[in-house]
Amino acid sequence: MGNHFQQLLEKVNEIHDLEKVTWLLSWDREVNAPSAGAAIRSKQIGTVSKLMHELSVSDEMGELIERSADELNSAGTDRSSMEQSLVRFLARDYKENRRIPTDYVQRVSIAQGKANEAWKSARANNNFAEFAPHLAISIAHGQEKAEYLGYEDEKYDALLSQFERGMKTADVRRVFDAIRAETAPLIAAINERQDKVDDSILHQDFPVEIQQTVAPYFAKAVGYNFDHGAELGTAAHPFASSFSRYDARITTRWYANFISPALFGTMHETGHAIYEQGTGAELERTPLARGTSMGIHESQSRMMENLVGRSRAFWHAHFHKLQEAFPSQLGSSSAEDFYRAINKVSPSFIRVEADELTYNMHIMLRFELEQAMINGDLKAEDVPDAWNSKMEELLGIIPPTDSQGCLQDIHWTRPSYGYFPTYALGNFYSVQLLDAAKEQDPSIEAGLAKGDTAPLKAWLGKNIHEHGKKFDPPELVTMATGRPLDHEPFVRYAKAKFGELYEL
Ligand SMILES: [Zn+2]
Repeated sequence: MGNHFQQLLEKVNEIHDLEKVTWLLSWDREVNAPSAGAAIRSKQIGTVSKLMHELSVSDEMGELIERSADELNSAGTDRSSMEQSLVRFLARDYKENRRIPTDYVQRVSIAQGKANEAWKSARANNNFAEFAPHLAISIAHGQEKAEYLGYEDEKYDALLSQFERGMKTADVRRVFDAIRAETAPLIAAINERQDKVDDSILHQDFPVEIQQTVAPYFAKAVGYNFDHGAELGTAAHPFASSFSRYDARITTRWYANFISPALFGTMHETGHAIYEQGTGAELERTPLARGTSMGIHESQSRMMENLVGRSRAFWHAHFHKLQEAFPSQLGSSSAEDFYRAINKVSPSFIRVEADELTYNMHIMLRFELEQAMINGDLKAEDVPDAWNSKMEELLGIIPPTDSQGCLQDIHWTRPSYGYFPTYALGNFYSVQLLDAAKEQDPSIEAGLAKGDTAPLKAWLGKNIHEHGKKFDPPELVTMATGRPLDHEPFVRYAKAKFGELYEL
């Protein structure tokens, strides 16, 4: 390793340490801190963020990146090496960060903390008015960010590319339109046959303290390494966070009369955590030590939540564990009953509890609203009405309260517009990746057939996780599956699975 690259790496390590400190402060704010402490905590995060931003946009940093690139190129270092990947990533990141003023980063961080508290309260009180002024600020911050980053076609492109490199708004629209055209008739046909699947066994009295004893088993069953993690945390909006590959944590939420959120939320967040736990050791303390994009990250969580966690084979292997925990609730049900219940398709209000098919419609709703907000066509105070009418158009239902409508997600407390579409992209990536994995290694299918996810985790580790952020999504997906994102595998999967369940 040359001299300039070594110097660069030291700087990068320090900046990365600061970033992980902000993650830890956020984790603690969400999981442990009293709400009275949140405002000052947000200032603390703001201060560290500012410091981090200043270091990463310094002239010295720019020079080091340039010199390191020259150094690596003249040494003929391989394009896929950690060194080249890091410099490539930093050069792009540096250029973008230089366009964003330091005061903007700090303003956003502080506003986000306040918005977070207002959102929690608005959601608890079903009072959108409490959140509206904060949403207006967040939209303005989103528009401001798009201007700093720049765009060629649509303002939303600038924001989307922050989460899914190489994807444009028009690309997402095309994929979404194709999925909507293929799955909307399937959802409509299923709606006519609601009597085919009964999910009442999921809605019983499931004491939270028992759920908390059994959830770790399911985190482990889909690959969570507790030695490189922690006990499950509790959060209003579950999330995963990692401080290094040796410390990736998950949160979940518990409903006393509905078993699904804790169970599938846990498996979902586990999918995220094992991605972070599996990033290459040589990437540690650099920005490459994380999932390459939100869409690919979500493909890992949706794979564990849905393709594995909602599969027939998984429950035939593991249902007894849940039965042992809840003998009076589930003792007289079969694994097959449970498999059918957890795969019921029915339009509902809450995105994170939606089934695999209607979930994508929830994302399409947010994708359309976000574009309107960023383009200035939708004001904060008009969001509840826009939400409700779009919900009626896509799913045929209107939420009775804003808490069950536009206040359900934490995302708009910060200007992270462009994030939502990646959730649906994750669904489509997940099936394509699993198909490729099974094709390449027969032991994966054999393992899954007995509820063993280890061979799958090994394939994901080698083909996705260990690369961290070295490659952009299109390149990574092509390396792993032989072709870029294709919505067809998801459509085939959905038609086969739900066609069988609903006898279509
Ligand atoms: Zn997720």
